[in-house]
Amino acid sequence: RQNLPAGAVFRAQTSCGSTREHPSFKNARSFAGARVKMLGSPTLMTSCQIVENRQPVFLLKYAQLSKRFGTIRRIDCKSKGNHIMNIVLLGAPGAGKGTQAAKLVEEFGTPHISTGDMLRAAVKAGTPLGKKAKSYMDAGDLVPDEVIIGLVTERLQDPDTEKGFILDGFPRTSAQAVALDAELSKLERPLDAALLIDVDFEVIVKRLTSRRMCRECGYIGTATDASCPKCSGEMYQRDDDNEATVRNRLDVYEKSTSPLIDYYRGCDLLVSIDGDRDADVVYADAKQALEL
Ligand code: AMP
Repeated sequence: RQNLPAGAVFRAQTSCGSTREHPSFKNARSFAGARVKMLGSPTLMTSCQIVENRQPVFLLKYAQLSKRFGTIRRIDCKSKGNHIMNIVLLGAPGAGKGTQAAKLVEEFGTPHISTGDMLRAAVKAGTPLGKKAKSYMDAGDLVPDEVIIGLVTERLQDPDTEKGFILDGFPRTSAQAVALDAELSKLERPLDAALLIDVDFEVIVKRLTSRRMCRECGYIGTATDASCPKCSGEMYQRDDDNEATVRNRLDVYEKSTSPLIDYYRGCDLLVSIDGDRDADVVYADAKQALEL
């Protein structure tokens, strides 16, 4: 027997290396201070039982868990600490990933890792990475995997990501998803969820061709914003927000990125929400879906 730490979380590690909080998490949390009995070896748990006042209150059986999670390699009991969320935002360009990420950052302070923003900053600064990426970005094509994987892997080493991160625009290919899993597994900071913001492509074409961004604070507005409503900065249109490039970006998304929806569904990490609504409504839905 061992004490259940305050705010304990049961995590089941699935066959693809991701972990999910077990549905008993909420119960487990409310039993903070109760005792937990682990059955099986610490690295390959077969089941675990939470007991309170010597009465078993919860028994998680391997069979029940594996039914929900697939093959389980490990179940462990960790303190949640200051961890907030490790999430990937999925969705076509223009689905509203950046908008939703900005809201999550504002409320939770979790670092927002947007590969598009990182690449645009590199292009603006004229770094070797920026020079390499520019032609791909202008055409709406993907920057080579090895370039982008290196960029994200490096960013994930920064200590601010220990409390969580919101990955936006990455992964975009299966190779990137596999590399991300490997890196997060190495860092022992697995994903909590992949949030898919689902929007019809024709809605996206309209949205993106009228999208304007603030040069100063990155605010995402529309063609009707003469200046930034947040900081009065200058609004501009991204080079790749013209119709031809938008259509190519959607083709690239369909071909290279949309298979990731099934990938994360297979890991039981996929959470899908309808993104064709007011941004605040989408946000409320996202928080509920992410159990935040
Ligand atoms: P975004 O702002 O996420 O729409 O990204 C803008 C452009 O940056 C994309 O059209 C790609 O050219 C490039 N890019 C961003 N993230 C990635 C990624 N994960 N893999 C490859 N290219 C990317």
